[in-house]
Amino acid sequence: MTAPTNRSAWEMDRSHALHPWTNFGPFEDQGALVITRGEGCHLWDDRGNRYFDAVGGLWCTNIGLGRAEMAEAIADQARRLAFSNTFVDMTNDPSARLAAKLADLAPGDLNRVHFTTGGSTAVDTAARMVQYYQSCMGRPEKGHLVARDHSYHGSTYLSQSIGKRPGDRVEQFRYKEDGIHHLSVPNPYRAPDGMDEAAFCDHLVAEFEALIAHVGADRIGGFFAEPIQASGGVIVPPQGYLRRMWEVCQRHDILFVADEVVTAFGRLGHWFASWDEFGVQPDIICTAKGLTSGYIPMGAMIFSDRIWQAMAADGARWFTSGFTYAGHPVACAAALKNIEIMEREDLLGNATRVGALFETRMKALEALPLIGQVRGKKLMVCVESVADKATRALLQDEADVGKRISDACEAMGLMVRPIGHLNVMSPPLVITADDVDFIGDTLETAIRRVADDLA
Ligand code: PLP
Repeated sequence: MTAPTNRSAWEMDRSHALHPWTNFGPFEDQGALVITRGEGCHLWDDRGNRYFDAVGGLWCTNIGLGRAEMAEAIADQARRLAFSNTFVDMTNDPSARLAAKLADLAPGDLNRVHFTTGGSTAVDTAARMVQYYQSCMGRPEKGHLVARDHSYHGSTYLSQSIGKRPGDRVEQFRYKEDGIHHLSVPNPYRAPDGMDEAAFCDHLVAEFEALIAHVGADRIGGFFAEPIQASGGVIVPPQGYLRRMWEVCQRHDILFVADEVVTAFGRLGHWFASWDEFGVQPDIICTAKGLTSGYIPMGAMIFSDRIWQAMAADGARWFTSGFTYAGHPVACAAALKNIEIMEREDLLGNATRVGALFETRMKALEALPLIGQVRGKKLMVCVESVADKATRALLQDEADVGKRISDACEAMGLMVRPIGHLNVMSPPLVITADDVDFIGDTLETAIRRVADDLA
């Protein structure tokens, strides 16, 4: 049925669109907020209201919105070559240049790139590459994958089965269960009673070792980890945890797959966080989001020459996986311009400097009623609300505290993302010290109002 054109975007959307993660009841009632414009860190809705977007789109608008030179780079490339496939033995200039640039920026021996359409398809392909690689190494049984509870790795069948955020697992969907194992979430705030951070870290590493002993090192091929679990609640693992998990992987020939869909491209002040922030040299990095700052959808998997050599060894194999839009010339041109802007404006430096102010200002919110913990690093922060600060007990789901806080912020021109009892933030890297004050003051007012309402 054709939609009449005199209807508002709100009406047409409500009548015809299925949004990701839709909650059907409230959507029927309220429809969606229609955003019409973006510039820098700000968004405008169809009524002219302006918001500071502390969510950064969805952890992705790293260089900020509305940049004319991004629009020009995209338009130039679309005029010159809007599409050309990269299957088998074809390539295009922006795709080749971006592959070389990523190999240059990635840590250690990661110098091969496979382009995807986004983060989910990067993780999905990484899982398949783990199995392909292990098989080429003469270990076809080594196809089991290990990940952690509360992780989010995407929304394809396989990437969502590797992830395990509690709210995402609904009974109406199926998930791949065989050959995927989940370890405990490394959240020090919710460590078992009486365990300090160091003991908790020992406990988590021992849990991984025990799983390997149980399943068999000869059957586990890859370990998937977001350096900081993003939408699972900005979970910063215990000091030393990632490095120790990496050491376990190395001892057992398990590939370490870092899901840097959120943490790369400056969010933590580095091109990639695995090595520079956590001292881990992954075998594969999955990335997306900040790679193009959301101007165009795109993802990439960066892997080592070691993996390439194993796969290519007999000279006769086919890597029969890939997407029509892999190495899309317009997306690659956008990524190259995005990286050039980050370099020219030292946005990684800004993320480090302003990120430190952001962390400190947000941490101060812990003194407020309701707030159990504020955690995160640099431009990736989460505020966790609780019913009781001493016991860390959660509020009832019906209180919908994260949504209440985000609604109160929205009414004052600030967007923060609610996830259950959490509010997460990942502002663009162009954020200023004044913006940090605005976010801090607005969030503080919102939290006080919600605490009064719930009292
Ligand atoms: N991995 C992580 C850590 C993510 O946060 C996301 C998306 O939020 C994904 C993978 C999936 O990326 P995409 O939505 O681009 O498929």
